[in-house]
Amino acid sequence: MLLTINSYLLLLPASIKPFNLRLPFTPVAVAVPSTVAQVQAAVACGAHAKVLITANSGGHSYASHGLRGEDGHLMIDMRLFNDVTVESSSGIAVVGVGGRLGNIAQSLFNNGERAVSHGTCPGVGIGGHVIGGGYGFSSRTHGLALDNLVEAQVVLANSTVVTASVTENSDLFWAIRGAGASYGIITNYKFQTYPAPAQSITFQYPLNLSQKEVKAVYMTLQHYASTTMPGGMSMRLFVNADFIALMGVFYGTKQAFQTAIQPILRKVGNPTGEVSQMGYLDTLSTFAYGNLTLPLDYDVHETFFSKSLMTAAVTDAVADAFWAYLPVAKSVKREWFLLIDLHGGPSSAISKVPANATSYAHRHTIFKYEFYDRVTNGTYPSDGFSFFNDWVATITNTMNPSGVGMYINYADPTLTTEEAQHYYWLDHYSRLEDIKKAYDPTNIFSNPQSVGRGN
Ligand SMILES: Cc1cc2nc3c(=O)[nH]c(=O)nc-3n(C[C@H](O)[C@H](O)[C@H](O)COP(=O)(O)OP(=O)(O)OC[C@H]3O[C@@H](n4cnc5c(N)ncnc54)[C@H](O)[C@@H]3O)c2cc1C
Repeated sequence: MLLTINSYLLLLPASIKPFNLRLPFTPVAVAVPSTVAQVQAAVACGAHAKVLITANSGGHSYASHGLRGEDGHLMIDMRLFNDVTVESSSGIAVVGVGGRLGNIAQSLFNNGERAVSHGTCPGVGIGGHVIGGGYGFSSRTHGLALDNLVEAQVVLANSTVVTASVTENSDLFWAIRGAGASYGIITNYKFQTYPAPAQSITFQYPLNLSQKEVKAVYMTLQHYASTTMPGGMSMRLFVNADFIALMGVFYGTKQAFQTAIQPILRKVGNPTGEVSQMGYLDTLSTFAYGNLTLPLDYDVHETFFSKSLMTAAVTDAVADAFWAYLPVAKSVKREWFLLIDLHGGPSSAISKVPANATSYAHRHTIFKYEFYDRVTNGTYPSDGFSFFNDWVATITNTMNPSGVGMYINYADPTLTTEEAQHYYWLDHYSRLEDIKKAYDPTNIFSNPQSVGRGN
């Protein structure tokens, strides 16, 4: 419930509803600041009262980490920080953390037809999205959202406000690009925008495949991402109980698209698909599956369990173990789906960034997987978790550990603290811990899966 009393916005702690209704938590208090000074005052107040403090921007964390994934935090709701301005000479955009991806895309486009790389769902908040990665159908071409970031303004645990960039507090800037929730309350981001592509090709090819064939397609896609897949191509394999499809976006001409896609189509049985040419905003709307722009009181929720995987090159034996699970998955009658994105490879803008340039630890990843299982009515079943946990284990139990990670933007609360810290940040974790000690020595920005959280 949102109340306005004497021009102060009030959110009642008991009325806070996260995107994932499966994981409701109650903060001890909620602040809704509209200025940086008010954010500083809220942090000082929380520190003084010795409560843990969390930022909530769009509230879309899969583990309700915007509520810190546990009761009793001071929640700083950043919804009023939603301005977008673009400096026309440099193309630098200053974006408030409370904005939603769809509204931000529309504003950037309205300001000189500019764009920033980010994910597909328009309701996701930019605040939490960027600091975990920010992957979408332009990421192989223009990098993750965090790769487009040039600066951030951060309120620290001691309630001072600092700039983080490659020249100022560069260690903090390194840390927030992959693990930002553990270091402070970010109030705005500065992005280097690029010209929105005038035209793009969207495509979807339904595939009629047996279990053996789907594994072969998966290996074909891995080979494609690792070799000839052009940088202008973004593609995913969509799998659910009844349907498998190849879908994505190509930035380039129709003819260049045909040249790029033909070798794949030949190997997957020359399917007939839907191919359309359209402008930038229509491309975003196609994968938004709804309105691109949303009102301030946008209030959508789901009840679900989700997991992720990030894999380097997978062997034949690992692929066999993974796809042997498909018949089990098909027997689950809930509304689950699996997305396997072709994330990396030599032409991917994500993989071209040096592995140690940011705390995002998955530059070597070929495939990024999102497992999503939801119920439309009622509660998620207590025996539902093993479905995805067992499917993910077919990879974590069989693959060389150095080749497996997980994506914090699809935070999975069934991981222990230690597992989360390992899989989200891999060999960047110890540096993240050192930076944490310097900027948040008493660990007030803490959740069950954050940097520096004890086990
Ligand atoms: C329907 C849906 C679709 C999605 N699609 C994509 C996609 O295409 N690509 C992709 O990469 N991800 C996607 N995601 C995942 C999404 O990027 C993450 O859940 C992201 O963390 C959400 O950010 P938020 O601000 O909405 O969430 P919140 O719950 O508000 O925050 C998430 C985390 O970030 C922290 N945080 C938020 N704001 C700040 C801040 N200002 N300063 C410091 N810490 C902060 C929070 O404390 C919390 O730990 C999707 C999620 C959903 C629910």
